[in-house]
Amino acid sequence: MLDCIFCKIVKKEIPAAIIYEDDTCLVMLDIKPVNKGHCLVLTKEHYENIFEIPEDRLRKLISVVQKTAKAVKQTCDGVTITQNNGRASGQVVNHIHFHVIPRYSTDGHKYSWKTTFYTDEKDLKNYVISLSKRMSSIR
Ligand code: 5GP
Ligand code: ZN
Repeated sequence: MLDCIFCKIVKKEIPAAIIYEDDTCLVMLDIKPVNKGHCLVLTKEHYENIFEIPEDRLRKLISVVQKTAKAVKQTCDGVTITQNNGRASGQVVNHIHFHVIPRYSTDGHKYSWKTTFYTDEKDLKNYVISLSKRMSSIR
């Protein structure tokens, strides 16, 4: 895609700290790492998000995510993997990518999720019914 920064990196039109490439995927260091060694794992082809990417491509991508996580884990205590879809989720670059972030027991990072709750058993059941219905309609 013409205007996509990650496509430009894939085509080597702009520089990046690339640590791995194969026929379909690329792994590079994030330009603003949460911790040093924070990797981004992306497809070489442009897919915007989890909804667009074909399943076979996603399988390849997740296998490179696992490989990256294994490499990252060798020098840290834990690994956080995140992936955003859409502005509301925090996606800034509209080219699918997974964040693979090395974590240390002492790094002090915390998720700032504000948790909510189901008002009662009926409320919870409605979510179960509605979501399971939607799940079964997806091919
Ligand atoms: P998102 O919020 O879309 O999941 O994350 C996008 C990530 O891409 C951010 O963590 C940001 O630091 C990183 N990023 C944005 N532009 C560049 C770039 O030009 N090069 C690299 N290596 N990372 C980038
Ligand atoms: Zn792209």
